[in-house]
Amino acid sequence: MAHEVMTQKSARPEKTFAFDYLDKHAHQIALLNDSVFYFGELGMQEHETARLLCELLEENGFTIERNLAGFPTGFCASWGKGSPVVAIHTEYDANPDNSQKAGVTEPACIVEGAPGHCEGHNSNAAVMVAGAIAAKKAMEKYGLAGQLKVFGAPAEEQLVSRPYYVRDGYFDDVDVALTPHIGGQFNVGYGLIQSSLISAYFTFHGESAHAGSAPWKGRDALDAVILMDVGMAEFREHMMPQSMCQRVITQGGDQPNVIPKRAQVWWYFRGPTAEAAMSVFERAKKVAEGAALMTNTSVEIDVQSAVWPVRGNRTLAELVEREYEQIGAPGWTEEEDKLARTLQQRAGVKVEGLSRDTARIKGPATQKPASNDAGDVSWKVPMAKFYFPANIPNISYHHWAAGVALATSIAHKGAVAGAKVLAASLIELFADPAIVQEAKRTFAEELGESSWFSMLPKDQQPPVNLNRATMERYRESMRTHYIKERPRFL
Ligand SMILES: [Zn+2]
Repeated sequence: MAHEVMTQKSARPEKTFAFDYLDKHAHQIALLNDSVFYFGELGMQEHETARLLCELLEENGFTIERNLAGFPTGFCASWGKGSPVVAIHTEYDANPDNSQKAGVTEPACIVEGAPGHCEGHNSNAAVMVAGAIAAKKAMEKYGLAGQLKVFGAPAEEQLVSRPYYVRDGYFDDVDVALTPHIGGQFNVGYGLIQSSLISAYFTFHGESAHAGSAPWKGRDALDAVILMDVGMAEFREHMMPQSMCQRVITQGGDQPNVIPKRAQVWWYFRGPTAEAAMSVFERAKKVAEGAALMTNTSVEIDVQSAVWPVRGNRTLAELVEREYEQIGAPGWTEEEDKLARTLQQRAGVKVEGLSRDTARIKGPATQKPASNDAGDVSWKVPMAKFYFPANIPNISYHHWAAGVALATSIAHKGAVAGAKVLAASLIELFADPAIVQEAKRTFAEELGESSWFSMLPKDQQPPVNLNRATMERYRESMRTHYIKERPRFL
């Protein structure tokens, strides 16, 4: 019986149509993938990327709301009428100082010191837009009812946008959501997948003085940053298992003979639950106050973002799994596999080439310490986060090696396959709304007593200036590498 249902579903003409559309647009998907790769834009500064994605969706009949929730590079593109309302969302930001030439298996910058994609959010964007357009065209042709909403989510690397979207009500009318993410293999899970995170700046204010001739007149803000660090290092010993914190010092003074009157440290506090992350943050505030007291300085705390741990809904995970089991891994060439093996060897990880199979769901996911700003969405509505094979397996992200495949045929084929899984899952949800009802039922069970609330401070506004100076410094030299041919989806 189960087999019969599967065969019947795989034969849906809507899906055959969408797959055919995506195959015919494989070159356009590659162009889109590569365009975003060479834009290489940091979070909150994804202006070229967001403009291109919005234009492509708009040309295909979607209505665009730009500047979503006050995010200049955020958007929501909607199409269709009635129910169900299905949302898809993903990120398209790069990382600082991660410029890497495509296809080169040694560290090699495109532009020295510039930002670059070193995870594959460029392919996320290609999958989301191509998958959305293909599904929309199939819905239109076969008269499927329902609304498709495509959310562009800026600054995932700083965990910023989606908690604001959820707080501001953009998911209130959404029934279910899907989010594609690059990986080394088709994979999807349910249960708690990632961790909760709070991102905050701690800025200490003191008083400057000549460090050589009158140090007693100064109140050193950098001392406070360092003492906070010492306090947090001691606190780490007493944290609950699975809780973590990391920091970078973003301001530490200008020159040694001027006592810094201003110093700043940027912290990420992580925990397996929202409550756990909040309790680490509460303790850190006390450590900061202590550091300020010891140095006769004052501290200002500015929360950038606060996200719930990403969870996956079982019904939706099983839906996506069924679709990628039918589509399968892309057929890799010898040459592509060789590139993967060379890179795996060079990066000192397990050498096994590209993945030729898909990951099956074997039970609830193992929760990872990493976080993603999609977390809030996954507590508001049933959501599946799935991975598509457009990067080389085993390579760890945010490292030059993870940028190598991202504008090669590996990413291109992976993006086409990812877009097919996304389009097929969307078509199933619109063609068979019973799946949506079932996802809502299992979601209610999965949540039990817990319910979403915004962890953001009240009235918190998006950090629109984040990464602006860095992006402005490099944009002109990066522009010379942009892809000249513009993708078209007709
Ligand atoms: Zn990511």
